[in-house]
Amino acid sequence: MSDHNYLLLTPGPLTTSKTVKQAMLFDSCTWDEDYNLGVVQSIRQKLVALATPSSGYTSVLLQGSGSFAVEGVLGTVIGPQDKLLIIDNGAYGARMVEMARLMDIDHHAFHCGEVNEPDTLALEAVLKNDARISHIAMVHCETTTGMLNPLHKVAGLAARNGKTFIVDAMSSFGGIPLDVDALGIDFLISSANKCIQGVPGFAFVIARRCELEKCAGRSRSLSLDLYAQWRCMEEHAGKWRFTSPTHTVLAFAQALHELEQEGGIAARHRRYQANQRRLVAGMRALGFTPLLDEALHSPIITAFYSPEAQTYRFAEFYQRLKQQGFVIYPGKVSQNDCFRIGNIGEIYPQDIERLLDAVGQSMYWNR
Ligand SMILES: *Cc1c(COP(=O)(O)O)cnc(C)c1O
Repeated sequence: MSDHNYLLLTPGPLTTSKTVKQAMLFDSCTWDEDYNLGVVQSIRQKLVALATPSSGYTSVLLQGSGSFAVEGVLGTVIGPQDKLLIIDNGAYGARMVEMARLMDIDHHAFHCGEVNEPDTLALEAVLKNDARISHIAMVHCETTTGMLNPLHKVAGLAARNGKTFIVDAMSSFGGIPLDVDALGIDFLISSANKCIQGVPGFAFVIARRCELEKCAGRSRSLSLDLYAQWRCMEEHAGKWRFTSPTHTVLAFAQALHELEQEGGIAARHRRYQANQRRLVAGMRALGFTPLLDEALHSPIITAFYSPEAQTYRFAEFYQRLKQQGFVIYPGKVSQNDCFRIGNIGEIYPQDIERLLDAVGQSMYWNR
């Protein structure tokens, strides 16, 4: 373990503020009202308020990483007669397909390659040809490539066709403004350690209350039963069914407070955008090329092609940057050799400037 800290330029866990980490220096009792009423219920209300001004929504917190909540939603929401259309243009879309397969959920996987936006006309045709499709699931920011998927277009499609709409907004919620009610999103999933800037340990779902109410007894799993978790939180004022990640929850409450202090999601979005634009411009100036067209970029994470030089090794580049205080992320795209740089978390444009200097210092293959 290195004794100096470095900035995590990754999609989570990410660099958190000192005050978020300090919030964990307290041991909570899970059945005491200080914790349940004071912290958990307030978090649940604040999450809904961040997602929409509408009163038709509720939220559920679930132990585990983000994937646990995605699996919880798919396993709890899709009934035995239902069929799910999954849009897959990256590792996280593919993970939902895998979950559906393992849980025996009837599904249609719409693969569109990793560097392409889903074609909404083709999606519309899939819906027209298969009247059994009742639900649509998509990833908002596909962290594999950094692509910002066309949420508004797919939301319109789901609404026009009367489909229940599930969005994995893991790496975007809190960093990109959206209104779940205006978009007709029925279930939105995110986790503690992404754009809200908390530490890992739980995920959460913002759900349209009348849709969640239909899901009693459907879950394919005990611990991932989103409905049962919700009933427990509703009936026992914020109580989790099983051991709650108390320290993580305290850190998250502080992270929500810091999001408010920053000026809310709109202000955070501006900071992330400034980071990402500076990153891309600076990397281009150093000779790197982003994987995606700029029109497809999210303000969250960016994939760059690996340099073509024979002597380039990601591991060497990574170590050199780490020694200068920056941790970047390997690529995850199957067809292209890439690396990724995230710019969410407690990261500011001046950190990106320092990173760009460090990248310039680390291009050993050019010398
Ligand atoms: C981070 C992330 C997840 C969840 O990953 P975990 O490792 O389970 O936390 C899911 N979807 C997207 C788009 C993500 O960025």
